Amino acid sequence: MSACGGLGNLCLRGESQARRRLGARAGLPSIGPLCLFVLLAPTASAQRTVLRPGWNMFTPQQDIELGKQAAADAEKQLPLCHAPRVDAYLTQLGMRLVEKLPTGGVQYPFEFHCVNDKAINAFALPGGYVFINRGAIEVADNEAQLAAVMAHELSHVALRHGTNQATKAQAAEGVLGIASGILGGSTGGALLSELGAFAAGGVLLRYSRGAESQADVMGTQVLYDSGYDPRAMGQFFEKLEAESKGKNPPEFLSDHPNPEHRVERVEEEIDKLRGVPPNAKRDSAEFEAIKREVLALAVVKRLAPAAAGAAKAPAPPSGNFAAYKANAYALKYPDNWKKYADNNGNNASFAPEGGVVDDSTGHAALAYGLIVTVSQATGDPNDWDALNNATEQAIHDLQKSNPNMKITRQPEHVRLNGQPGLATYLSNDSPLGSQETDWMITTLRPEGLVSFVCVAPQSAYEKYDKTFNGILDSVRFTK
Ligand SMILES: [Zn+2]
Repeated sequence: MSACGGLGNLCLRGESQARRRLGARAGLPSIGPLCLFVLLAPTASAQRTVLRPGWNMFTPQQDIELGKQAAADAEKQLPLCHAPRVDAYLTQLGMRLVEKLPTGGVQYPFEFHCVNDKAINAFALPGGYVFINRGAIEVADNEAQLAAVMAHELSHVALRHGTNQATKAQAAEGVLGIASGILGGSTGGALLSELGAFAAGGVLLRYSRGAESQADVMGTQVLYDSGYDPRAMGQFFEKLEAESKGKNPPEFLSDHPNPEHRVERVEEEIDKLRGVPPNAKRDSAEFEAIKREVLALAVVKRLAPAAAGAAKAPAPPSGNFAAYKANAYALKYPDNWKKYADNNGNNASFAPEGGVVDDSTGHAALAYGLIVTVSQATGDPNDWDALNNATEQAIHDLQKSNPNMKITRQPEHVRLNGQPGLATYLSNDSPLGSQETDWMITTLRPEGLVSFVCVAPQSAYEKYDKTFNGILDSVRFTK
Protein backbone atom coordinates (compact mmCIF):
# COMPACT_ATOMS: atom_id res chain seq x y z
CA MET A 1 0.00 0.00 0.00
CA SER A 2 1.29 3.44 -0.80
CA ALA A 3 2.26 5.77 1.99
CA CYS A 4 -0.65 7.98 1.05
CA GLY A 5 -3.35 5.44 0.21
CA GLY A 6 -6.97 6.50 0.20
CA LEU A 7 -8.48 9.30 -1.72
CA GLY A 8 -9.54 11.19 1.34
CA ASN A 9 -6.04 11.10 2.73
CA LEU A 10 -5.01 14.41 4.17
CA CYS A 11 -1.32 13.73 3.49
CA LEU A 12 -0.23 16.78 5.42
CA ARG A 13 3.27 15.58 6.12
CA GLY A 14 5.04 15.52 2.77
CA GLU A 15 8.26 14.59 4.54
CA SER A 16 7.83 11.00 5.59
CA GLN A 17 11.37 9.77 5.14
CA ALA A 18 13.63 10.55 8.05
CA ARG A 19 16.87 11.70 6.54
CA ARG A 20 20.06 10.19 7.83
CA ARG A 21 22.68 12.45 9.28
CA LEU A 22 26.34 11.59 9.25
CA GLY A 23 27.95 11.82 12.65
CA ALA A 24 31.12 13.52 11.44
CA ARG A 25 31.44 17.18 12.37
CA ALA A 26 32.80 19.64 9.91
CA GLY A 27 36.50 20.26 10.52
CA LEU A 28 37.04 23.75 11.91
CA PRO A 29 39.71 25.86 10.28
CA SER A 30 42.57 26.64 12.66
CA ILE A 31 42.43 30.14 14.05
CA GLY A 32 45.12 32.39 15.53
CA PRO A 33 45.26 33.60 19.16
CA LEU A 34 43.86 37.03 18.25
CA CYS A 35 40.76 35.46 16.78
CA LEU A 36 40.40 33.26 19.82
CA PHE A 37 40.38 36.30 22.03
CA VAL A 38 37.67 37.88 19.95
CA LEU A 39 35.60 34.70 20.01
CA LEU A 40 35.85 34.37 23.76
CA ALA A 41 34.68 37.92 24.40
CA PRO A 42 31.01 37.96 25.43
CA THR A 43 28.81 38.69 22.42
CA ALA A 44 25.09 38.72 21.74
CA SER A 45 25.41 35.37 19.97
CA ALA A 46 26.44 33.75 23.26
CA GLN A 47 22.87 34.24 24.55
CA ARG A 48 20.53 31.31 24.57
CA THR A 49 18.20 31.05 21.57
CA VAL A 50 14.85 32.71 22.16
CA LEU A 51 11.91 30.74 20.77
CA ARG A 52 8.26 31.73 20.59
CA PRO A 53 5.17 30.00 19.17
CA GLY A 54 4.53 30.73 15.48
CA TRP A 55 1.44 31.75 13.54
CA ASN A 56 -1.66 30.09 14.95
CA MET A 57 -5.39 30.34 14.20
CA PHE A 58 -6.20 28.58 17.47
CA THR A 59 -6.21 30.04 20.96
CA PRO A 60 -4.21 28.27 23.71
CA GLN A 61 -7.60 27.34 25.21
CA GLN A 62 -8.47 25.54 21.96
CA ASP A 63 -5.12 23.72 22.11
CA ILE A 64 -6.26 22.38 25.47
CA GLU A 65 -9.76 21.46 24.23
CA LEU A 66 -8.48 19.70 21.10
CA GLY A 67 -5.72 17.93 23.04
CA LYS A 68 -8.07 16.82 25.79
CA GLN A 69 -10.47 15.15 23.36
CA ALA A 70 -7.70 13.59 21.29
CA ALA A 71 -6.05 12.33 24.50
CA ALA A 72 -9.28 10.75 25.75
CA ASP A 73 -9.57 8.94 22.44
CA ALA A 74 -5.88 7.96 22.43
CA GLU A 75 -6.31 6.45 25.89
CA LYS A 76 -9.13 4.28 24.53
CA GLN A 77 -7.20 3.21 21.44
CA LEU A 78 -3.64 2.77 22.68
CA PRO A 79 -2.47 -0.12 24.86
CA LEU A 80 -1.49 1.72 28.04
CA CYS A 81 1.06 0.23 30.46
CA HIS A 82 -1.40 0.23 33.39
CA ALA A 83 1.60 0.51 35.71
CA PRO A 84 0.75 3.15 38.36
CA ARG A 85 4.36 3.46 39.58
CA VAL A 86 5.61 4.09 36.05
CA ASP A 87 2.95 6.74 35.37
CA ALA A 88 3.67 8.38 38.74
CA TYR A 89 7.40 8.46 37.96
CA LEU A 90 6.80 9.93 34.48
CA THR A 91 4.49 12.55 35.98
CA GLN A 92 7.01 13.51 38.66
CA LEU A 93 9.86 13.75 36.13
CA GLY A 94 7.64 15.55 33.62
CA MET A 95 6.44 18.15 36.13
CA ARG A 96 10.05 18.86 37.16
CA LEU A 97 10.73 19.74 33.51
CA VAL A 98 7.47 21.69 33.15
CA GLU A 99 8.66 24.06 35.92
CA LYS A 100 11.37 25.26 33.54
CA LEU A 101 9.23 25.23 30.40
CA PRO A 102 8.44 28.69 28.97
CA THR A 103 4.68 28.48 28.31
CA GLY A 104 4.10 32.22 27.98
CA GLY A 105 1.91 32.22 31.09
CA VAL A 106 -0.53 29.58 29.79
CA GLN A 107 -1.52 26.96 32.36
CA TYR A 108 -1.55 23.72 30.40
CA PRO A 109 -3.05 20.66 32.16
CA PHE A 110 0.00 18.44 31.73
CA GLU A 111 -0.54 14.67 31.83
CA PHE A 112 1.96 11.86 31.29
CA HIS A 113 1.06 8.33 30.17
CA CYS A 114 3.14 5.19 29.58
CA VAL A 115 2.11 3.31 26.39
CA ASN A 116 2.75 -0.43 26.19
CA ASP A 117 4.41 -0.26 22.79
CA LYS A 118 7.96 -1.45 22.12
CA ALA A 119 8.41 1.06 19.26
CA ILE A 120 10.77 3.88 20.28
CA ASN A 121 8.40 6.81 20.22
CA ALA A 122 6.66 9.50 22.21
CA PHE A 123 4.16 12.19 21.33
CA ALA A 124 2.55 15.19 22.93
CA LEU A 125 -0.91 16.43 21.98
CA PRO A 126 -1.67 20.15 22.10
CA GLY A 127 -2.45 21.30 25.62
CA GLY A 128 0.15 19.05 27.26
CA TYR A 129 -1.05 15.44 26.99
CA VAL A 130 2.19 13.47 26.74
CA PHE A 131 2.36 9.78 25.76
CA ILE A 132 5.64 7.90 26.13
CA ASN A 133 6.12 4.44 24.64
CA ARG A 134 7.79 1.84 26.84
CA GLY A 135 10.28 1.48 23.95
CA ALA A 136 11.56 5.01 24.63
CA ILE A 137 12.07 4.23 28.33
CA GLU A 138 13.77 0.93 27.52
CA VAL A 139 16.21 2.46 25.02
CA ALA A 140 17.24 5.33 27.33
CA ASP A 141 20.58 4.71 29.09
CA ASN A 142 19.76 6.97 32.00
CA GLU A 143 17.23 9.41 33.44
CA ALA A 144 18.75 12.37 31.59
CA GLN A 145 18.08 10.72 28.21
CA LEU A 146 14.46 10.00 29.12
CA ALA A 147 14.17 13.58 30.39
CA ALA A 148 15.56 14.71 27.02
CA VAL A 149 12.75 13.00 25.06
CA MET A 150 10.18 14.40 27.46
CA ALA A 151 11.67 17.91 27.30
CA HIS A 152 11.54 17.69 23.50
CA GLU A 153 7.84 16.69 23.62
CA LEU A 154 7.01 19.39 26.17
CA SER A 155 8.65 21.97 23.90
CA HIS A 156 6.25 20.99 21.10
CA VAL A 157 3.44 21.83 23.55
CA ALA A 158 4.90 25.17 24.68
CA LEU A 159 5.69 26.18 21.08
CA ARG A 160 2.17 25.05 20.08
CA HIS A 161 3.57 23.18 17.07
CA GLY A 162 0.51 20.94 16.66
CA THR A 163 -1.99 23.69 15.98
CA ASN A 164 0.68 25.80 14.25
CA GLN A 165 1.19 22.96 11.73
CA ALA A 166 -2.57 22.53 11.37
CA THR A 167 -2.89 26.28 10.75
CA LYS A 168 -0.22 26.19 8.04
CA ALA A 169 -1.63 23.02 6.46
CA GLN A 170 -5.04 24.64 6.27
CA ALA A 171 -3.63 27.74 4.61
CA ALA A 172 -1.58 25.72 2.12
CA GLU A 173 -4.17 23.13 1.20
CA GLY A 174 -7.60 24.49 2.04
CA VAL A 175 -8.99 21.48 0.26
CA LEU A 176 -10.50 18.45 1.90
CA GLY A 177 -13.38 19.14 4.17
CA ILE A 178 -12.05 17.15 7.09
CA ALA A 179 -9.03 19.33 7.76
CA SER A 180 -11.26 22.34 7.26
CA GLY A 181 -13.84 20.92 9.62
CA ILE A 182 -11.33 20.63 12.41
CA LEU A 183 -10.45 24.25 11.92
CA GLY A 184 -14.00 25.44 11.42
CA GLY A 185 -14.09 27.77 14.40
CA SER A 186 -15.59 27.21 17.81
CA THR A 187 -17.21 23.92 16.85
CA GLY A 188 -13.77 22.41 16.22
CA GLY A 189 -13.89 20.33 19.34
CA ALA A 190 -17.29 18.87 18.53
CA LEU A 191 -16.16 18.00 15.02
CA LEU A 192 -13.09 16.31 16.41
CA SER A 193 -15.10 14.00 18.59
CA GLU A 194 -17.36 13.10 15.66
CA LEU A 195 -14.37 12.30 13.54
CA GLY A 196 -12.70 10.05 16.03
CA ALA A 197 -10.53 12.51 17.83
CA PHE A 198 -7.34 10.51 17.73
CA ALA A 199 -7.53 9.94 13.97
CA ALA A 200 -8.00 13.66 13.55
CA GLY A 201 -5.25 14.17 16.09
CA GLY A 202 -2.89 12.82 13.45
CA VAL A 203 -3.26 16.20 11.80
CA LEU A 204 -1.94 17.77 14.98
CA LEU A 205 1.19 15.62 15.07
CA ARG A 206 2.71 16.45 11.72
CA TYR A 207 5.88 18.33 12.58
CA SER A 208 8.20 20.00 10.12
CA ARG A 209 11.97 19.71 10.46
CA GLY A 210 12.00 23.34 11.58
CA ALA A 211 9.61 22.53 14.42
CA GLU A 212 11.77 19.54 15.35
CA SER A 213 14.86 21.67 15.58
CA GLN A 214 13.04 24.20 17.77
CA ALA A 215 11.85 21.42 20.08
CA ASP A 216 15.44 20.13 20.33
CA VAL A 217 16.77 23.59 21.22
CA MET A 218 14.08 24.46 23.77
CA GLY A 219 14.30 20.92 25.16
CA THR A 220 18.04 21.36 25.66
CA GLN A 221 17.42 24.61 27.56
CA VAL A 222 14.77 22.92 29.73
CA LEU A 223 17.17 20.05 30.51
CA TYR A 224 19.89 22.51 31.43
CA ASP A 225 17.60 24.63 33.61
CA SER A 226 16.29 21.52 35.41
CA GLY A 227 19.82 20.49 36.32
CA TYR A 228 20.15 17.62 33.82
CA ASP A 229 23.14 17.06 31.60
CA PRO A 230 21.94 18.81 28.42
CA ARG A 231 24.17 16.55 26.29
CA ALA A 232 21.58 13.79 26.90
CA MET A 233 19.49 15.35 24.09
CA GLY A 234 22.18 14.73 21.47
CA GLN A 235 23.02 11.35 22.99
CA PHE A 236 19.42 10.21 22.65
CA PHE A 237 19.33 11.18 18.97
CA GLU A 238 22.66 9.43 18.38
CA LYS A 239 21.10 6.30 19.85
CA LEU A 240 18.17 6.65 17.45
CA GLU A 241 20.64 6.98 14.57
CA ALA A 242 22.40 3.83 15.67
CA GLU A 243 19.06 2.01 15.98
CA SER A 244 18.23 2.92 12.36
CA LYS A 245 21.33 1.26 10.91
CA GLY A 246 20.31 -1.67 8.70
CA LYS A 247 16.70 -1.68 9.91
CA ASN A 248 13.64 0.48 9.68
CA PRO A 249 14.27 3.84 11.34
CA PRO A 250 12.74 4.14 14.83
CA GLU A 251 9.15 5.30 14.76
CA PHE A 252 10.14 8.48 16.60
CA LEU A 253 11.93 9.68 13.47
CA SER A 254 8.86 9.31 11.27
CA ASP A 255 6.75 11.38 13.67
CA HIS A 256 9.62 13.76 14.47
CA PRO A 257 11.59 14.07 11.20
CA ASN A 258 15.33 14.48 11.62
CA PRO A 259 16.45 18.07 10.99
CA GLU A 260 19.85 18.67 9.39
CA HIS A 261 22.76 18.65 11.82
CA ARG A 262 20.50 17.74 14.72
CA VAL A 263 23.20 16.85 17.23
CA GLU A 264 25.42 19.77 16.19
CA ARG A 265 22.58 22.21 16.77
CA VAL A 266 22.08 20.82 20.28
CA GLU A 267 25.81 21.17 20.99
CA GLU A 268 25.73 24.74 19.71
CA GLU A 269 22.94 25.53 22.17
CA ILE A 270 24.91 23.96 25.03
CA ASP A 271 27.81 26.30 24.11
CA LYS A 272 25.39 29.25 24.24
CA LEU A 273 24.33 28.07 27.69
CA ARG A 274 28.03 28.19 28.65
CA GLY A 275 28.56 24.43 28.65
CA VAL A 276 27.59 21.54 30.87
CA PRO A 277 27.03 22.54 34.53
CA PRO A 278 29.48 20.78 36.91
CA ASN A 279 26.90 18.84 38.94
CA ALA A 280 24.58 17.99 36.08
CA LYS A 281 22.30 15.08 36.88
CA ARG A 282 22.54 12.00 34.65
CA ASP A 283 20.82 9.10 36.34
CA SER A 284 18.81 8.08 39.39
CA ALA A 285 18.00 4.88 41.24
CA GLU A 286 14.29 5.54 40.53
CA PHE A 287 14.95 5.53 36.78
CA GLU A 288 16.77 2.21 36.97
CA ALA A 289 13.93 0.68 39.03
CA ILE A 290 11.27 2.01 36.64
CA LYS A 291 13.17 0.78 33.60
CA ARG A 292 13.32 -2.72 35.14
CA GLU A 293 9.58 -2.60 35.81
CA VAL A 294 8.86 -1.52 32.23
CA LEU A 295 11.12 -4.22 30.78
CA ALA A 296 9.12 -6.80 32.75
CA LEU A 297 5.71 -5.67 31.42
CA ALA A 298 3.89 -8.16 29.19
CA VAL A 299 4.24 -7.28 25.50
CA VAL A 300 1.03 -6.18 23.76
CA LYS A 301 0.79 -6.89 20.02
CA ARG A 302 -0.46 -3.98 17.98
CA LEU A 303 -3.47 -4.42 15.71
CA ALA A 304 -2.63 -3.59 12.11
CA PRO A 305 -4.62 -0.48 11.12
CA ALA A 306 -6.28 -2.45 8.30
CA ALA A 307 -7.51 -5.11 10.70
CA ALA A 308 -8.65 -2.48 13.18
CA GLY A 309 -10.57 -0.66 10.44
CA ALA A 310 -12.11 -3.75 8.87
CA ALA A 311 -13.46 -4.83 12.24
CA LYS A 312 -16.18 -2.20 12.22
CA ALA A 313 -17.94 -1.49 8.92
CA PRO A 314 -20.18 1.60 9.14
CA ALA A 315 -23.95 1.23 9.65
CA PRO A 316 -25.90 1.22 6.33
CA PRO A 317 -26.78 4.70 5.02
CA SER A 318 -30.14 5.96 6.24
CA GLY A 319 -32.95 6.36 3.70
CA ASN A 320 -33.78 9.72 5.27
CA PHE A 321 -31.82 12.67 3.97
CA ALA A 322 -30.52 15.87 5.58
CA ALA A 323 -30.04 19.07 3.60
CA TYR A 324 -26.71 20.77 3.04
CA LYS A 325 -26.24 24.17 1.42
CA ALA A 326 -22.89 25.61 0.33
CA ASN A 327 -22.21 28.83 -1.59
CA ALA A 328 -22.01 27.08 -4.94
CA TYR A 329 -24.46 24.18 -4.54
CA ALA A 330 -26.96 22.41 -2.30
CA LEU A 331 -27.42 18.67 -1.80
CA LYS A 332 -29.02 16.09 0.46
CA TYR A 333 -27.12 13.33 2.27
CA PRO A 334 -28.13 10.41 4.53
CA ASP A 335 -29.11 11.81 7.90
CA ASN A 336 -26.92 9.29 9.77
CA TRP A 337 -23.79 10.68 8.09
CA LYS A 338 -21.68 13.52 9.44
CA LYS A 339 -20.59 16.49 7.42
CA TYR A 340 -17.23 18.25 7.58
CA ALA A 341 -17.00 21.53 5.73
CA ASP A 342 -14.66 24.48 5.35
CA ASN A 343 -15.71 28.07 6.02
CA ASN A 344 -17.40 28.89 2.72
CA GLY A 345 -18.78 25.36 2.67
CA ASN A 346 -17.89 24.50 -0.95
CA ASN A 347 -15.26 21.95 0.09
CA ALA A 348 -17.08 19.40 2.19
CA SER A 349 -17.00 15.74 3.12
CA PHE A 350 -19.89 13.51 4.17
CA ALA A 351 -19.16 10.21 5.89
CA PRO A 352 -20.87 7.62 8.07
CA GLU A 353 -19.63 6.94 11.58
CA GLY A 354 -16.50 4.79 11.08
CA GLY A 355 -16.12 6.05 7.51
CA VAL A 356 -13.09 8.15 8.41
CA VAL A 357 -10.21 5.98 9.54
CA ASP A 358 -6.57 6.14 10.49
CA ASP A 359 -4.58 4.87 7.51
CA SER A 360 -1.33 2.90 7.77
CA THR A 361 0.65 6.10 8.34
CA GLY A 362 -1.65 7.54 10.99
CA HIS A 363 -3.39 10.06 8.74
CA ALA A 364 -7.15 10.58 8.81
CA ALA A 365 -8.53 9.18 5.56
CA LEU A 366 -12.05 8.81 4.15
CA ALA A 367 -12.91 5.17 3.40
CA TYR A 368 -16.70 5.54 2.95
CA GLY A 369 -18.61 8.63 1.90
CA LEU A 370 -18.57 11.62 -0.40
CA ILE A 371 -15.99 14.36 -0.92
CA VAL A 372 -16.99 17.54 -2.73
CA THR A 373 -14.26 19.93 -3.86
CA VAL A 374 -14.21 23.03 -6.00
CA SER A 375 -10.94 23.45 -7.88
CA GLN A 376 -9.74 26.24 -10.11
CA ALA A 377 -10.89 25.88 -13.71
CA THR A 378 -12.45 28.18 -16.28
CA GLY A 379 -14.67 27.48 -19.24
CA ASP A 380 -18.25 27.64 -20.43
CA PRO A 381 -20.33 25.20 -18.32
CA ASN A 382 -21.89 23.91 -21.57
CA ASP A 383 -18.56 23.32 -23.34
CA TRP A 384 -17.81 19.58 -23.21
CA ASP A 385 -14.20 20.05 -24.27
CA ALA A 386 -13.51 22.47 -21.45
CA LEU A 387 -15.14 20.05 -19.01
CA ASN A 388 -13.06 17.17 -20.40
CA ASN A 389 -9.82 19.10 -19.98
CA ALA A 390 -10.61 20.31 -16.46
CA THR A 391 -11.62 16.78 -15.41
CA GLU A 392 -8.41 15.28 -16.83
CA GLN A 393 -6.42 17.85 -14.88
CA ALA A 394 -8.33 17.13 -11.66
CA ILE A 395 -7.72 13.37 -11.99
CA HIS A 396 -4.07 14.00 -12.76
CA ASP A 397 -3.79 16.12 -9.57
CA LEU A 398 -5.42 13.37 -7.50
CA GLN A 399 -3.01 10.79 -8.92
CA LYS A 400 -0.06 12.84 -7.70
CA SER A 401 -0.96 12.09 -4.08
CA ASN A 402 -2.61 8.73 -4.88
CA PRO A 403 -0.07 7.03 -7.18
CA ASN A 404 -2.11 3.81 -7.45
CA MET A 405 -5.29 5.55 -8.55
CA LYS A 406 -6.44 4.32 -11.98
CA ILE A 407 -9.33 5.08 -14.32
CA THR A 408 -11.41 1.90 -14.63
CA ARG A 409 -14.13 3.27 -16.92
CA GLN A 410 -13.65 6.24 -19.27
CA PRO A 411 -15.69 9.39 -18.53
CA GLU A 412 -19.33 9.25 -19.63
CA HIS A 413 -21.61 12.18 -20.33
CA VAL A 414 -24.22 12.75 -17.62
CA ARG A 415 -26.46 15.61 -16.50
CA LEU A 416 -26.29 17.03 -13.05
CA ASN A 417 -29.17 19.38 -12.21
CA GLY A 418 -29.49 19.82 -16.00
CA GLN A 419 -25.82 20.78 -16.39
CA PRO A 420 -23.36 18.80 -18.56
CA GLY A 421 -21.30 16.50 -16.33
CA LEU A 422 -18.73 13.73 -16.67
CA ALA A 423 -18.89 10.52 -14.65
CA THR A 424 -15.62 8.61 -14.25
CA TYR A 425 -14.98 5.39 -12.34
CA LEU A 426 -11.59 5.01 -10.67
CA SER A 427 -9.93 2.47 -8.40
CA ASN A 428 -7.51 3.33 -5.62
CA ASP A 429 -5.86 1.87 -2.51
CA SER A 430 -8.40 1.94 0.31
CA PRO A 431 -7.09 3.16 3.68
CA LEU A 432 -8.64 -0.07 5.03
CA GLY A 433 -6.34 -2.20 2.83
CA SER A 434 -7.51 -3.78 -0.48
CA GLN A 435 -9.08 -1.53 -3.16
CA GLU A 436 -11.74 1.14 -3.17
CA THR A 437 -14.02 2.38 -5.95
CA ASP A 438 -14.18 6.13 -6.54
CA TRP A 439 -17.02 7.41 -8.67
CA MET A 440 -16.23 10.97 -9.69
CA ILE A 441 -18.80 13.34 -11.20
CA THR A 442 -17.47 16.67 -12.43
CA THR A 443 -19.18 19.76 -13.75
CA LEU A 444 -17.99 23.26 -14.64
CA ARG A 445 -19.50 26.15 -12.71
CA PRO A 446 -18.62 29.85 -12.39
CA GLU A 447 -16.73 28.93 -9.16
CA GLY A 448 -14.56 26.35 -10.98
CA LEU A 449 -14.67 22.61 -11.47
CA VAL A 450 -17.02 21.03 -8.92
CA SER A 451 -16.07 17.39 -8.22
CA PHE A 452 -18.30 14.96 -6.35
CA VAL A 453 -16.27 11.87 -5.45
CA CYS A 454 -18.20 8.91 -4.04
CA VAL A 455 -15.91 6.54 -2.12
CA ALA A 456 -16.42 3.00 -0.78
CA PRO A 457 -14.34 -0.18 -0.61
CA GLN A 458 -14.80 -2.21 -3.81
CA SER A 459 -16.39 -5.10 -1.90
CA ALA A 460 -19.01 -2.79 -0.35
CA TYR A 461 -19.53 -0.34 -3.20
CA GLU A 462 -22.74 -1.94 -4.49
CA LYS A 463 -24.44 -1.29 -1.15
CA TYR A 464 -23.71 2.43 -1.51
CA ASP A 465 -24.60 2.82 -5.20
CA LYS A 466 -28.23 3.78 -4.57
CA THR A 467 -27.26 6.27 -1.86
CA PHE A 468 -24.63 7.95 -4.05
CA ASN A 469 -27.14 8.24 -6.91
CA GLY A 470 -29.69 9.71 -4.50
CA ILE A 471 -27.20 12.34 -3.33
CA LEU A 472 -26.25 13.30 -6.90
CA ASP A 473 -29.91 13.53 -7.96
CA SER A 474 -30.43 15.99 -5.11
CA VAL A 475 -27.65 18.36 -6.23
CA ARG A 476 -28.87 21.89 -7.04
CA PHE A 477 -26.59 24.67 -8.20
CA THR A 478 -27.44 27.81 -6.36
CA LYS A 479 -26.53 30.48 -8.91
ZN1 LIG B 1 9.46 16.27 17.81
